[in-house]
Amino acid sequence: MENHIIPSYISQTASELEPWLIHIRREIHRFPETGWLEMRTSAMIAKELRALGYEVLTGRAVCKEAARMGVPSPQETQAHLQRALAFGLPEEELTPDMREGFTGVIGILRCGSGPTVGLRFDIDALGMQECADADHKPAREGFASAIPGKMHACGHDGHAAIGLGVAKVLAAIREHLHGTVKLLFQPGEEGARGARAMVAAGHLDDVSVFIGSHIAPTGSLDDGDVTPGTYGSLATTKYDVIFSGKAAHAGGHPENGSNALIAACTAALNLHAIPRHSGGQSRVNVGTLRAGTGRNVIPDRAVMELEVRGETTDINVFMARSAVAVCEGAANMQGCTVEMIKMGEAEGQHSDLSLIERIAGVVKRDLPDLTLSSIQNAQNWGSEDISIMMNRVQARGGLATYMRVMTPMAGAQHTVRFDFDEQVLSRSVRVFCAAAADILK
Ligand SMILES: [Zn+2]
Repeated sequence: MENHIIPSYISQTASELEPWLIHIRREIHRFPETGWLEMRTSAMIAKELRALGYEVLTGRAVCKEAARMGVPSPQETQAHLQRALAFGLPEEELTPDMREGFTGVIGILRCGSGPTVGLRFDIDALGMQECADADHKPAREGFASAIPGKMHACGHDGHAAIGLGVAKVLAAIREHLHGTVKLLFQPGEEGARGARAMVAAGHLDDVSVFIGSHIAPTGSLDDGDVTPGTYGSLATTKYDVIFSGKAAHAGGHPENGSNALIAACTAALNLHAIPRHSGGQSRVNVGTLRAGTGRNVIPDRAVMELEVRGETTDINVFMARSAVAVCEGAANMQGCTVEMIKMGEAEGQHSDLSLIERIAGVVKRDLPDLTLSSIQNAQNWGSEDISIMMNRVQARGGLATYMRVMTPMAGAQHTVRFDFDEQVLSRSVRVFCAAAADILK
């Protein structure tokens, strides 16, 4: 194959793969797995990558154990394992690590000397009950979630399928690539729990060019098929906060108690009173608060879920430090103690302009039927832990970008009616592969 034929080969193969991509997406959609429970999804990915000739890492080799955040309880993990086996996941496809919730997969394709291109695909679902109405396509066509209370409502089922499509196409053109392809299938993106653990395991340290993408709804900024870069997603820190006090009879001896409920309420109000930061946007939210056991008992325990965010990593650090001070102060006022468990974390992020321009050039030259958004570096709100991977690559002198590939969507992301036009799967495969092939040519 001549080098100039590769782009058309990529496009042709990706469009031939479309029915298979849709099949894989729907298989994953039917069995949504939330963070650190992606056992069936990881097993499916690992099997596919091995068959294509990739070196495959699974289990504890993917994520550094101590850096995993927001890990479910052993009971929840075991319950999910049983559900996955009952759903038809073959026992032999699960390693002992995967059974314990060490999910995520890395696939490596070595194609001689040259740069290492890291491509990231997140694979986890959300804790939501999918809509069962007949006007919701997954319900109507029989691929809606089979797990009560869990749903792929952000498109990561699509991302996993795109990653496998990319794996197929790049394996098919491997003799024409010079360097290393590293596919990172990340667990636990929701709640910003998984990226830190993959970075801590060293998997981004040898990556010289790093590309991630999210499917996204066409909007005013994203008026094309592809937005090759984004910046500014919010840095964030998520905490579970446990206030511990002392129970006492509320009528008999209230002075003997330490009221964890009042400590938590004092904290909730004062968390929302953290000063605004002159350097940029900030956010704080106390999302849940549970306390108390009965009307006439001084509450000895209160549990709160909170998050802070900042436009930059520094602003988020200010918000997180302030939140710790508020919770500790509020606990002190009531003679309580407080434990703050970090459940998730993302940093601020920017895409490198030179990489954005390179990918824009590749789309124009090699994928001329796709349109580029008029703003090629669009601002993100929300938070994404891909930021931690991008910052690691950039800190070591590499280039990184976080793209958007646009598609019509039914229902907004993170809502029970979410669905997307599946043509975005092959379109995304083309963009990833054309970019990787250009960098590794
Ligand atoms: Zn997402």
